[in-house]
Amino acid sequence: MSIASEDVRYRSTVAYFCMEVGLDPAVPTYAGGLGMLAGDSLSAAADLGVPMVGITLLHRKGYFRQHLDDKGQQTESPAIWSPERLLKAMPDRVSVTIEGRPVHIRAWLYGLTGISGHTVPVYFLDTALPENTPWDQTLTDQLYGGDNHYRLCQEAILGLGGAAMLSALGYRNIQIYHMNEGHSALLTLALAKEMSEGHRLRDLSRVTIDAVRRRCVFTTHTPVPAGHDRFPAWLVSQVLGEELTSALHSCRCFLDGTLNMTYLAFSFSHYVNGVSMHHEEIAHSMFPNYPINSITNGVHAVNWTAPSLKEVYDRHIPEWRWDNLYLRYAVSIALDEIRQAHQHAKKMLIAEVEKRTGQRLDPEALTIGFARRATAYKRADLLFSDLERLTRIARQVGPLQVIYGGKAHPYDDGGKRLIRSIFEAAATLRDSVKVVYLEEYDMSLAKYVCSGVDLWLNTPQKPFEASGTSGMKAALNGVPSLSVLDGWWIEGNIEGITGWAVGDSWEPESDQGKETSSLYDKLEHVVLPMFYRKPDDYCRIMRWAIAINGSYYNAQRMLLQYLNNAYVATADAVWAPKYPHEYDHG
Ligand SMILES: *Cc1c(COP(=O)(O)O)cnc(C)c1O
Repeated sequence: MSIASEDVRYRSTVAYFCMEVGLDPAVPTYAGGLGMLAGDSLSAAADLGVPMVGITLLHRKGYFRQHLDDKGQQTESPAIWSPERLLKAMPDRVSVTIEGRPVHIRAWLYGLTGISGHTVPVYFLDTALPENTPWDQTLTDQLYGGDNHYRLCQEAILGLGGAAMLSALGYRNIQIYHMNEGHSALLTLALAKEMSEGHRLRDLSRVTIDAVRRRCVFTTHTPVPAGHDRFPAWLVSQVLGEELTSALHSCRCFLDGTLNMTYLAFSFSHYVNGVSMHHEEIAHSMFPNYPINSITNGVHAVNWTAPSLKEVYDRHIPEWRWDNLYLRYAVSIALDEIRQAHQHAKKMLIAEVEKRTGQRLDPEALTIGFARRATAYKRADLLFSDLERLTRIARQVGPLQVIYGGKAHPYDDGGKRLIRSIFEAAATLRDSVKVVYLEEYDMSLAKYVCSGVDLWLNTPQKPFEASGTSGMKAALNGVPSLSVLDGWWIEGNIEGITGWAVGDSWEPESDQGKETSSLYDKLEHVVLPMFYRKPDDYCRIMRWAIAINGSYYNAQRMLLQYLNNAYVATADAVWAPKYPHEYDHG
């Protein structure tokens, strides 16, 4: 791990803020897709030599460890890890004022070195310092733990503390602050304070607001209401104090007595985007008065490609590692080579499943993967809507087996119920369709599952899947998707070429009955017959998935789009004729 050299801090830099970042399986500071995306974006910046610095929280107790009993009942324990072993402690200290008292913060450094040799420093903020009260020391313990009060304190540390830490670390030329989701939106107040040159922040002038906007970019990640933090005004006033609260009032950032972090981020950014073309439209209907763009997510190609496929790409298109567009030329790789590389990835997955569960899967059977956060809108159980039909399909058309994985947030009863229902279905299907649910789904397990299955299944309830990224990881490995047309799959699906859609025609909202019968129809009449009876046709689809989707839905393309569209902060990049208080937040 190398440390950012002195001069990096004086180059014009993008500061990337995110509550969760997934960089390393040994650093469990992420819950799901948002954190993986942050890690992949920072990795792409390291590859491309983009001067970027990451800010997140240390989360000493991680997200959590998941334990599942034989009924699929989830319990949790802290995911304790040792920053001391993996990160470098920085000597710098800053503090933020929370409830009128100073909360002291230090930072730990993870140096992320890319293919170019460039290192992107990622700083993890930590309040476990003896000069803090015992309670304040816990503020950077747990990702998405605690109540609203705990969360607001964490967001003050991330946004206000992060901005202060960058100054203390000597960053003098940050041109762009990228708020990846609204959790870090309080950083706009820190910037406003810095730009108002010591004046109290009571009334934010247009000049100050413009200056902050020139620096800020905001990415919104979900249409699910729980993904948009809201805090009552009394709590904001209690935690942040009178000056910042009156600043928020002065730009009318409270709506009906509530501070909505999404609005705050919107109001102070010159560029706002959703994470797929369709999500732009959905976000537009949620926030009709704001200009919203889209940059579709991508995943870090080299990180997510299985060793056996990497070897094939290296042999035919070695340029793919530093220019992912070369994956386009996978079209000319022989089907047999792709098939063999995939068989190897499948073997590795089956061995990993056996190691973890003792269960032996059939290497010849069509293997379906479904793994992501367990939460209601992801509808992990849609495949089990009609167990008789599924059994009949497996008996008559060809055997199939399913691998599941995913954690439910400790407070998400709907998500926990879903896991139990998968276990129930697995028991019922015991003699016809083998179903395994893997505990502790994380980035290392995701590498096995996304690359080793034959078909990636995704059945979210529309329109809640803003993008989805695990199907992109699968595509890079030649694994086609069978997915509801939501999020990235609306763009990524070419029917019968890169995979298949669940649902026979475009519908803006899910109709569960239609989707279920389409899901079974596709399995019975299209996917399974092709897999068993026309293996070359199936393999051709695998190859298109790599060439068409792998070459595009990667983090390199995504970062280049951010550079072209979002990080260009010129004087006229301030889009809005209006100011925060002039918006109808309707
Ligand atoms: C990629 C990934 C996700 C995101 O999956 P979606 O398909 O976007 O829901 C979640 N968790 C882990 C561990 C991942 O690697």
